[in-house]
Order: sequence, then C-alpha cells, then structure tokens
Amino acid sequence: MRCLMCGKKMREEGSLEDLLFSNDLLCSQCRSRWQRLDRHFRIDHVPALASWAYNEAFASTLLQFKECGDEALADVFLYPMARQLRSRYAGWTLLPMPSSRSKQEQRGFFALGEIYRQLDLPLLECFEKTEDLDQTGRSYDQRLAMRSRIRLKEGIEIPRRIVLVDDVCTSGSTLRGALACLDRSKHRIRIHVCALASGRHSFR
Ligand SMILES: [Zn+2]
Repeated sequence: MRCLMCGKKMREEGSLEDLLFSNDLLCSQCRSRWQRLDRHFRIDHVPALASWAYNEAFASTLLQFKECGDEALADVFLYPMARQLRSRYAGWTLLPMPSSRSKQEQRGFFALGEIYRQLDLPLLECFEKTEDLDQTGRSYDQRLAMRSRIRLKEGIEIPRRIVLVDDVCTSGSTLRGALACLDRSKHRIRIHVCALASGRHSFR
C-alpha cells in the first residue's frame, strides 16, 4: 500500500510507526506534519471541538480532497479519532454544514458527508445554502454578513441530540448561521459542534 499523499510505499519499507498504525492511509512522515489540537471551545455557548490545527499539511490535503476530487482521501481526516468520536456521539445525529449547489455539482460528491460517513452515525443533511456564494476570499465581516444565507430545509424534524459538523472553523460564521436557524428553546435539543480543524487566529 502506498501513502495517499506522498506515494511512498508503506509497510514493506515503512517505519515502525507505519507497521504499528498500519490502517492509516498516510505514512508516518506525512501524518507527523499534521498537528493534533483537540481544542475545546464554544460557539454561541455551544460546546465545540476542533481536532487538528489548520496548518499547511492539513490545508493541502483538504484541498487535494475537495478541489482535486481525490475521494480516496476522505478517511484520512478523522482516522486517528474516529473510534473516540463514534463512542462519544453514539445516539447523536450529525448535521453537516451545506456546500453550495454549484460546488457540489462541480465536485460530484458531498465532501463533508464523505468525511464524516466513517463515523457510522446518522447523517442528516437538513441545511441548505440559499444562494451560491463562495466564502473564499471574503473578509471576516463579509462572511459574518453571509451567515443568514443558510437555512433549514422544510419539513425536517430535528433530532434531540445533534452535532453540527464542518471542515474548518475559522470565523465560525457558517456554524453560527446554522445555530441561528435552530430554535433551541423550542426544540429542546442538545447541540455540539465538531470541526476537523481550526485556524491559529480563530476566535476563542
Ligand atoms: Zn506520505
């Protein structure tokens, strides 16, 4: 088997780490460039967790997966913590943040859904974007202003325990927008937030 990022042969020629953690799709060298963060914080009083630092190695893998359509990479993002998250959120439903329709059509797959599918938890795509606006390259304030462009699809019943899941949490505006869609007192729901990574300059 070869590392999905650098193409180096694993196991046969791999290091001891590769032999010990042989289910990882990245070699120990590529994996060592990722920085585990396990950062606990809050978004609008909701407990949130980011597993990785949004550094260069993480960003380039995410780009390779999302924009170059390298679907085989889907499992590398949660691989080291999948078991832990699966037991932590047993009985919860994952609510992925929506991609714009044009992005999704361009990619041919729902990136976030592919990543979180490995947790084997129910995945409910209940949010949608009201306009196809790409957040890339926009300022913090512009992105905050865009948050209301997320809405709940009609006629979907929200489960009692939900985890809003996203890839990278920088300003948190997407997640805040999603939280704003949920009538938390009315629904009497428990909510957590789970992001793959958060940036160095993310809010606290
Ligand atoms: Zn590698």
